[in-house]
Amino acid sequence: MNRKGILVVVSGFSGVGKGTLMKLLTERYSQYALSISATTRKPRPGEVDGREYFFKSREEFEGLIAADQLIEYASYCDNYYGTPREYVETQMAEGRDVILEIEIQGALKVREQYPDALLLFVMPPDAGTLEKRLRDRGSEDEEVIRRRLARAVEESEYAPEYEYMIINDDLEQSMENVHRLIESQHNKINRNMDFVKEIQSELKDIAKGE
Ligand code: 5GP
Repeated sequence: MNRKGILVVVSGFSGVGKGTLMKLLTERYSQYALSISATTRKPRPGEVDGREYFFKSREEFEGLIAADQLIEYASYCDNYYGTPREYVETQMAEGRDVILEIEIQGALKVREQYPDALLLFVMPPDAGTLEKRLRDRGSEDEEVIRRRLARAVEESEYAPEYEYMIINDDLEQSMENVHRLIESQHNKINRNMDFVKEIQSELKDIAKGE
């Protein structure tokens, strides 16, 4: 049976650990492909061009928009972020589940284009933990942290647009939860109508004694 790839959109507040979660998931299970976004944000210490992001100048990014090479893009805390189209389409055609770790405006645009996409929202166990994780990252100044927390308040308004939440408390357990949710999505009847029809036709033949 040919399994079609699912587009999985994962959002969550800055600092919630969704990047680490998705990295673990994609390392553990080979069915997943993690899309690498383009951004105009400067690399953080340790980030490598082409691994965490494709780091672009504003002009380069606007060139990608003009050439329709992005599925979606959004402006987040004064920088552009966008999902390159080609990788997503190739991987899905090859049957892999593609993970987009993107913010909310982008997630909603993806859902318009891919109504079958699975939208997951990663939550911290509590608000204090989120603040601590943002500070512990140590790569941003106080002003940036404050803006990211304010943004989290705005983003929480959109959580009801998503289908499932994942509480990122224990990393390993959260990763397995994500995996299970995606597997369940694969088993939805309306994604498997070709298989249902095939069984139905075989059953008819058997019932007729052919
Ligand atoms: P960060 O600067 O912390 O790496 O990312 C900031 C926000 O941008 C995060 O919420 C992240 O999920 C989101 N983001 C990353 N890549 C994309 C993308 O391609 N499109 C959109 N819309 N958001 C993205």
